[in-house]
Amino acid sequence: MQPILYTGAMDAETLYLMDELVHAERVVLGCWKCMRGTLDGIPVVIVRTNQGMANAAASTALAIERFSPCAVINQGTSGGHAPELHRGDIVIGSRVINMTAVRTPDRARGTGIDMDNAQPRGLEIANTEPGDGRKMTEFLPDTALLEAAKQVAWSEGRVVSGTIGSGDIWNNELDRIHWLHTNWGTMTEEMEAAACAQICAAYEIPFLGVRILSNTALHGESFDEATGLACQKFARAVIAQYCVNK
Ligand code: SAH
Repeated sequence: MQPILYTGAMDAETLYLMDELVHAERVVLGCWKCMRGTLDGIPVVIVRTNQGMANAAASTALAIERFSPCAVINQGTSGGHAPELHRGDIVIGSRVINMTAVRTPDRARGTGIDMDNAQPRGLEIANTEPGDGRKMTEFLPDTALLEAAKQVAWSEGRVVSGTIGSGDIWNNELDRIHWLHTNWGTMTEEMEAAACAQICAAYEIPFLGVRILSNTALHGESFDEATGLACQKFARAVIAQYCVNK
């Protein structure tokens, strides 16, 4: 079996998985911390991508080239956009978007800024023709990974499926968060999932993003990195279920 690739940006989002590895082996993967081994008898690779879209994309591509994973799961912390969600709740990414990939409307000098009418801008998928090749505005998960995630029994918080919004941005403006939630359906935001998904789309590798709310400006709940541990446990359960189903 080819390994499953777990990606997460920070120690708080990867150390539990790395510590749980059997036959753990540190691997040199460019600038990124990488370990491989087995988890629950399943061959896995865990990459700490560091924060942000460029780090996530580059480290995912390197890991795919090096390990040819059969599936990729990006997981970690995030900031809530859906009013019904609180810190500790989990969003299974039934859709992942790059919320900073936009094309603004034409507006003359002196007529202001109008993000309300910005349109999603398709992102070029490598491996297809540049320019007129395939562009994607959303990334859908592999159905078997999505189903496995929905089957996980979880009592530590709510689990919902919905859109995860990514970008090199941390939004604190409640009007912007409301706009993103109502117009583009974002349930939570973070800084890596869509970049990871875009690279997986290019390589045609099954992908799923899973995010826990570590903070939500909507309810004044500040960042708690301890939530990263619960998300790793959830992601591990997703992969265990995925392998049982196969
Ligand atoms: N104290 C830490 C906090 C990092 S939070 C520091 O400054 O380094 C940023 C990371 O957590 C990113 O990797 C991102 O994916 C995730 N994240 C959590 N909440 C977020 C939010 N509200 N907006 C954007 N990214 C968030």
